[in-house]
Amino acid sequence: MTRLVWFRNDLRLADNPALHAAAQGNAPLLLLYILDERTGAAGRWWLHHSLTALAQDISAKGGMLTLRRGEPVEIIAELVREHGVTAVHAARAYEPFWRKTDRVLDAALRGLDCGLHRHLSTSLFPPEQITTKAGGPFGVFTPFARACREAGVREGFLPAPEKLHGPETQSDKLANWSLLPREPDWAGGLRAQWHPGEAGAMARLDAFLSEPVRDYATARDIPARHGTSRLSPHAHFGEISPRLVWHRALAAGHGQGVEIFLKELLWREFSLNLLWRHEELRTRPIREEFETFPWRDNQAYLAAWQKGQTGIPIVDAGMRELWRTGWMHNRVRMICASYLVKHLLIPWQAGEKWFWDTLCEADEAANGASWQWVAGCGADAAPYFRIFNPVLQGRKFDPDGVYVRRFVPELKNLPDAYLHCPWEAPQAVLAGAGIRLGHEYPVPLVQPADGRQAALAAYETLKAARHTG
Ligand code: FAD
Repeated sequence: MTRLVWFRNDLRLADNPALHAAAQGNAPLLLLYILDERTGAAGRWWLHHSLTALAQDISAKGGMLTLRRGEPVEIIAELVREHGVTAVHAARAYEPFWRKTDRVLDAALRGLDCGLHRHLSTSLFPPEQITTKAGGPFGVFTPFARACREAGVREGFLPAPEKLHGPETQSDKLANWSLLPREPDWAGGLRAQWHPGEAGAMARLDAFLSEPVRDYATARDIPARHGTSRLSPHAHFGEISPRLVWHRALAAGHGQGVEIFLKELLWREFSLNLLWRHEELRTRPIREEFETFPWRDNQAYLAAWQKGQTGIPIVDAGMRELWRTGWMHNRVRMICASYLVKHLLIPWQAGEKWFWDTLCEADEAANGASWQWVAGCGADAAPYFRIFNPVLQGRKFDPDGVYVRRFVPELKNLPDAYLHCPWEAPQAVLAGAGIRLGHEYPVPLVQPADGRQAALAAYETLKAARHTG
């Protein structure tokens, strides 16, 4: 009667439908995690700590988390044979890799007289539920969000099982997976900011709903403040159930702040939906005409952007926040991404790849959809010709320069008037602040006005090709 629970991006015990269903009748449970080798470097750091927390929570209830590395279908089939497993339970996945694996696994398990049961766990709605009146997919966010609100998010939480028990199995040692960085250990900034695991996720939600959500409508755009929930890595690894976040936020009842926060949760659903329908979301533009966009291959510019050395302070602050903490504020993500794809004309896929490796929460759906949104080639995307001016964005959202000074300390003595555009500062002002452009801080790779012109010219070629094509 042993059942197997295959944890993927649902690393929690509370409100975990796969675990809850498997634990019915106090059945012996084999609790399994198979390393997702595609995880980026910052995600691996997070995963190490998340699995440590999950293993401890399971052990406190009398169970054991089995860790394995390798081909999921082979591993699961072998465990099913070895332990006479009658049912495998897992969270339903949106990622093409998992969907393909699930199809093969389903067929393999049938041959072993064992069922594969997949549960809605990582999203609020099943991917096929939210459709237009004609039954088709939504390509635009607002009506999608409206349809979600009309459908309503199911209530009622599934408690964590009180006790867990199951067979002893051979498990890998987490330390042997080498998920943590060594030589150099670059994770100091991540350790200082995050507490991966279910308890950390709940604490983060409680802290956000206790106060900051009241001010979310305005504070969420100010990168110097902790005005957003910072739940994204917890949500990505499924350390907290999206339904729980939704209903706890609704119950907090802080007016407009909550309403906007719920809308952000629906952007997450929208991205998942896009991935469900566009399996190549990470690599191919939804708007096909962008396949022929005249991107530039400039590795030196790409490297400068990655290191936060573009000479545009708000962009450099964002890229350094990402490197140091494994996260970046959403407003600044939009500015940094826009500078890469519009001012530097570097393909959005190169930015997506960098975020994949450096963001703790790098997610096929949200990352792919957001990069396409910024580049203007995605669903309901910002039009390509609407180009963020990073100086104006900096002045508007970091007016007193707290954020830039936090991550670009070499500019800390520059007066506010020039903080977002040091190249416009008179020599005497620069000298007074201890800066020589090109030495302590770079000359801009591309100035905002020049970048804007080049981006518009590139876009014109796309339009011309469309008209002649
Ligand atoms: P909050 O403002 O507190 O929002 C609450 C939750 O809503 C978030 O935790 C997240 O789960 C969800 N959410 C918010 N905004 C979005 C959005 N635009 N799209 C999808 N979900 C959203 N988000 C990721 O989770 N993973 C990614 O890999 C990712 N890559 C991005 C890349 C770019 C270029 C951009 C512009 C955005 C990206 N985002 C990504 C979306 C967004 O920036 C983050 O979800 C958000 O900044 C996380 O911070 P938070 O938890 O404090 O968000």
